[in-house]
This record gives sequence, structure tokens and C-alpha cells, in this order.
Amino acid sequence: MDLIFRRANLPDGRNRIDVGIEGDRIVAVEAQLPATAAEEIDAEGRLLSPPFVDAHFHLDATLSLGLPRMNRSGTLLEGIALWGELKPRLQREAVIARALAYCDMAIAQGLLAIRSHVDVCDDRLLAVEALLEVKSRVAPYLDLQLVAFPQDGFYRSSTAERNLLRSLDMGVEVVGGIPHFERTMADGAASVQRLCEIAAERDLLVDMHCDESDDPFSRHIETLAAQTKRLGLSGRVAGSHLTSMHSMDNYYVSKLLPLIAEAGVAAIANPLINITLQGRHDTYPKRRGLTRVPELMGSGVPVAFGHDCVMDPWYALGSADMLEVAHMAVHVGHLTALDAIRACFDAVTVNAAKILHLEGYGIAPGCRADLVLLQAADPFEAIRLKATRVLVVRRGKTIARTPEKVTNLFVQGRPPTVALNFSPGSIA
Ligand SMILES: [Zn+2]
Repeated sequence: MDLIFRRANLPDGRNRIDVGIEGDRIVAVEAQLPATAAEEIDAEGRLLSPPFVDAHFHLDATLSLGLPRMNRSGTLLEGIALWGELKPRLQREAVIARALAYCDMAIAQGLLAIRSHVDVCDDRLLAVEALLEVKSRVAPYLDLQLVAFPQDGFYRSSTAERNLLRSLDMGVEVVGGIPHFERTMADGAASVQRLCEIAAERDLLVDMHCDESDDPFSRHIETLAAQTKRLGLSGRVAGSHLTSMHSMDNYYVSKLLPLIAEAGVAAIANPLINITLQGRHDTYPKRRGLTRVPELMGSGVPVAFGHDCVMDPWYALGSADMLEVAHMAVHVGHLTALDAIRACFDAVTVNAAKILHLEGYGIAPGCRADLVLLQAADPFEAIRLKATRVLVVRRGKTIARTPEKVTNLFVQGRPPTVALNFSPGSIA
């Protein structure tokens, strides 16, 4: 074999497992694998995970913070207005350079698949061209999936439909939407129907920004689920954000959740962004906007998390760290039970991979040899520590390394790496 990780902990709870790799595929996953390899890595006490997957991002806007100015109110609507000011000034090479810089950050953090929305409401389709170029350039390292996103509204913007179809013709692979931004509820519902029909006609996946508001009557997710059923798109559709569900009437939600589950629609929450952009019209108490993650999970709806934004008109922070995203979800969603914390790890790995329809994702014979070795014993500890990605492997080759942290982290099963003059046990 070419590479064997020895005695690794896996996200499913198995410990001391060897993972053997030949070429770009995993060929063996078992305890005490009776084989040798050109390179063997001692992973004892460390979590070996398939790579992180970001189910929702905006690579055309990332790292543009301050261009042409800062978002002073911190609201979603000022962010959209600001992006509208920047959009006509975008230059292809600058968009490519920022996106590539972000992909570098992502890869170092073990984030090897990103679904990025790309704004198609620019008659030049400059961002579409730029991100298609980025997609091919980063392909050896990172799977970039692009969503045709009509940021200014599919019906609200007069050229959006034509530009969206053009971008699909150019190779953008997922149909996006923004029904809550159309001028009326009826236009929003009509946009969901038309966009789902386009996806069905072209055999494409769907991922819409859906009900990203605090309005409890923003119910486009209901239409999205109904259209998914009508057009037989089950398993191919995701609703992103779904923040209005935070504010909906409980009785209505009790009827809505089974509909979403039955329709086979996935949910993508963006905890860092939802908690900062929602509730901005509230006094106190302030709503925090995250969709009903535990209830969606409990209903059998696949739930993934996205980073959504990093240093752009909507969010000034972020560092391509999907463990930070999961960490925020744990806090905002009251997801502090042990199995809930594990579910949050799944939301930035396996669930997101499933929603993106990634081929060969996972740790099993036949899967792609895409792996991340973490300075943590298990998914719980990975989230607690936002653990260092010691090693990132893509198609069997190491593509990033980060030195382990040399601080007193109390990593499970290991003594503190900096010797203090007392141990915790000595404190009365
Ligand atoms: Zn978004």
C-alpha cells in the first residue's frame, strides 16, 4: 500500500482502526491491518475524519471586506445594497485572486468541498466566469460546486431569468433562488415553482436561499417542499437559511416538518450568519434566527451547516473553519447533549457531502482517499477545541500540514503538553 494511518479514531466512534490507501482510494479500514505501506502515520488518540464540507458559501464576495465601504448597520439588506454597489466594479482577476486565497485557507483547514452560490444578476456574468475558472484551477485540491443565485430576485430583476439560464449553459450545476426577496409572496412562490421546473428539465440539483427573514409568514419552504414532491425531485433539493421558521407558529411548524421530511428536502443552516443578521429589527428579547435545527434533525430531515460568508458585505469575520461553524450551532441551537454535538459534526461533514451528492465521500474501502487528521480524540473534542488540522490528505497525497498546538489543551487521554507546576487534581 502507499499510505496507512495506524490506530486512528473514526467519527463513527470506532477506535484504534487502521486505514489503508492505494493511489487515490481507501482500500482497507480495519483493526491491525496486516499490510505495510511506503508511509505509515501513527494516528493513535487522534480523530481521522473525511474532510469538512461547506454546504453554503459565497465565493464571489469573499475577502472583499471594505469594498467599497463597510456595512454600517450590520443588516442583511444593507449587505445586499453594498454588494449591489460593488458588483458593477468587480474585476475578473481580482475575484479570482480573492477566491483562490480563500481556497488556500479552506484547504489548510481540511475543508475540501464547498458549495458556493454565485450571483447571476450581472449581465456580464463576470463572477460566473471567474468562479468557473477557479473551480477548474482548484479541482485537484477542492471540490467546488456552483449554484446559480439570482441575488436581486428571479422576477424582481428583469434579466435574472435569462442570466440564470445562461450561467447553467456555461456549466453552473445547481439552481438557486431567493423567493423571500421577490416583491410579493405570490412572486416568491412563482419563482420557486419556475426554478424547480428548470432544475427538473435539466436534471439539476436545487438550493435556494429560502425565508431568510424574521417574518413568521415567510413560508416559501412549504412551496419548495410541495414543488419537490410534484416534480419528483426528492433528495435533490435543499432549503438554505430557513430562518423564518425560528419565528413561526408552533402549530404550523408541526405540520410543516413532516412535509419537508416527506418531500426529501434538506435544510442548510448558517449559524454564524443567522445569529448576526437576524433579529435586527427586534428590541428585547431579540430573536436569534437560527432555523429549528434539533426539530428538523428529529424529523429525519438531512441538516447541514454552511459558513455562508467570510470577510464580505454581510460578515466581517470568519476563517474557513467549519468547526467554528459547528461550535456556533451547538451554542445557538442549544445542541449541547453529547449526541447533538456529534450531529453538529455530521452537519459539517457527512450530511453536507450527501446534500452535495459528493462521489466517494467517507471512510470505507472504495472511498476517495480524502482525509483530515485532527488534534482531537473525537468529534466532540474537535468542536470543543476547534482542533488543529494536523494533516490534510487529498486523493492519497498530503496537501497541508499544521503543527500541533503546544498549549495546555487537556486533549483526552494525553497529558498536558506544557508542564505546569501543578496538576488539576491538586487544586482543592
Ligand atoms: Zn447565502
